[in-house]
Amino acid sequence: MVTLINAERDGTSKEWKNSQNKEVLCMEKYIIFGSPHIEEQDIREVVDSLHSGWLSTGPKVAKFEKMFADYIGASHACALGSCTAGLHLALLVVGVKPGDEIITSPMTFAATANVIEHLGAQPVFIDIERDSMNIDVSQISSKVTKRTKAILPVHFAGRPCDMEAVIELAKKHDLHVIEDAAHCTEGEYRGRKIGTIGDLTAFSFYATKSLSTGEGGMVTTHNEHWAEKIKVLSSHGLSRDAWKRYSSEGNSHYQVVVPGYPYNMMDLQAAIGIHQLLRLSKSLQRRDEIWRMYDEAFEDLPVETPASAETGTVHARHLYTVLVDSENAGRSRDGVRRILYEQKVGSGVHFISLHMHPYYANKYGYAPEDFPNAMYVSERTMSLPLSSKLSDDDVARVIVAVKKALRK
Ligand SMILES: *Cc1c(COP(=O)(O)O)cnc(C)c1O
Repeated sequence: MVTLINAERDGTSKEWKNSQNKEVLCMEKYIIFGSPHIEEQDIREVVDSLHSGWLSTGPKVAKFEKMFADYIGASHACALGSCTAGLHLALLVVGVKPGDEIITSPMTFAATANVIEHLGAQPVFIDIERDSMNIDVSQISSKVTKRTKAILPVHFAGRPCDMEAVIELAKKHDLHVIEDAAHCTEGEYRGRKIGTIGDLTAFSFYATKSLSTGEGGMVTTHNEHWAEKIKVLSSHGLSRDAWKRYSSEGNSHYQVVVPGYPYNMMDLQAAIGIHQLLRLSKSLQRRDEIWRMYDEAFEDLPVETPASAETGTVHARHLYTVLVDSENAGRSRDGVRRILYEQKVGSGVHFISLHMHPYYANKYGYAPEDFPNAMYVSERTMSLPLSSKLSDDDVARVIVAVKKALRK
């Protein structure tokens, strides 16, 4: 019965709940993809916020920002409602205007390019490298025009991009560097934390991310002026510290200095994140262990496992992606995922390249083969559960399920 209760609490799929009614013997819980790792101290912190009556932006957000800035080693950290908000505001504060071009990777979540569109600018996609699945930096120069304003690299799956090459290009062409580090909170590149290298870096605390506040994000920067602007823009454009307007130290007036956005983080979200931040290295260590178990188990299967981390980097181990060789596996990637699902193992697809989605394909006239490596990955990739919450038994079950799904 305990497993059934856990299955409920773990957000088990509707299908599984239905089958549960039919088949009570079927007791194994569904291993969901991207399960958040919440502990009692996180729950207590949220309850404390609820008791305090301070639900939205307040002292816990300020504390979370300070802790995150210290963890990254950045001068400033601005907590936001999402990474998407962070990318949007980062582009805004460096002055991206309609007609500007932003160079980025198509192997990413929709938000990376959507925010460029929101500003009336144009995402200029560059193919990825087959192995790293990160933007192929050697192709950037050929796509720089007079309108190019910034490079927006995505540290895919937690693997840091070649930032030395990116920074060198940015200097040469006088471009800003805004990093999508949604997968890469723990990442390091040649002794430097991700979040300290480019002009601005955006992190995600979405439900499936390695540090999760349900929804949430953070931007780090060394530039005080940009940090200040992001703070103001993220709270409707009200003058700084307007959130204090209802506290005992606040006064009753604020000024609207710019038409901003409701992009602020709530104290309730910060409360979920504060203790997870302190557990990051422990959680990364566990994901590293699971990663090695998968590598070993899948060695002889008809899949490509992730390339090893580049020397001098710390891979943040956010997504364990395998490329399914459907010819040798005897079934498609989606067929493999279906068999995993039947064995109550969740999986994900990260990602179908953005140039293959109707909005971007239609607007910019892309064909799938325009970015051959991104297309190759899109057609084969599958992400397996990698949460630090997984027990050894869970990992063993994923491995058994994958082996079964890949047997001809
Ligand atoms: C999750 C994700 C985002 C968006 O993060 P939100 O916090 O959900 O806005 C952006 N980029 C990548 C690569 C992501 O995986």
